[in-house]
Amino acid sequence: MRAAGPLPLVPRPLPGEAVLSWVGRIGARYSLEASALIAWLRRGHGVHASRIAALDWRADAELDHLLAGAARLEVGAVRALRPVAAVAEIALWRRARPAWCAGCVRDDVGRQGECYGRVAWRLGGWVACPIHDVLLAEACPRCPHGRCGFRPMAGRQRLICDACGAPLDQPSGAYRGPKPGPKARS
Ligand SMILES: [Zn+2]
Ligand SMILES: [Zn+2]
Repeated sequence: MRAAGPLPLVPRPLPGEAVLSWVGRIGARYSLEASALIAWLRRGHGVHASRIAALDWRADAELDHLLAGAARLEVGAVRALRPVAAVAEIALWRRARPAWCAGCVRDDVGRQGECYGRVAWRLGGWVACPIHDVLLAEACPRCPHGRCGFRPMAGRQRLICDACGAPLDQPSGAYRGPKPGPKARS
């Protein structure tokens, strides 16, 4: 199978970015989710969702080369985005669902109009952001049981609640992180 050629518009990986976040940001330029982007690069031949989900953790010779070729990068640049096995073991477990620092994603959008997922946020042992000193969030403040994720929106990647559609990364939005606990009565 011959892969599609290099893409005209590809954002470079950002510091600490996870593979799937980077793929998501490439796809967002073309209004495609990661799975649809990969299918398009493979000329209409999609791959199983489990293979895409594993991209953050495991080398995938074919897909790594496909993405590197589309981005005009060395394949080593794609592989460098994965946590080394030793770090993954120390962190004990891998998160199945996205987690994020509300401060980081707001800063991202304020700075570059989109946000990105850090590879550290994928590790279960990483529970707080050392920059903002807050616990990582895993849910929309309005829809605690809904799914959230990094999605394409207007050509950029944003963090969206699938249940209510709210972007959770608005720099000046209503969401300012978890609500403070009830104050003690004096
Ligand atoms: Zn942060
Ligand atoms: Zn919501």
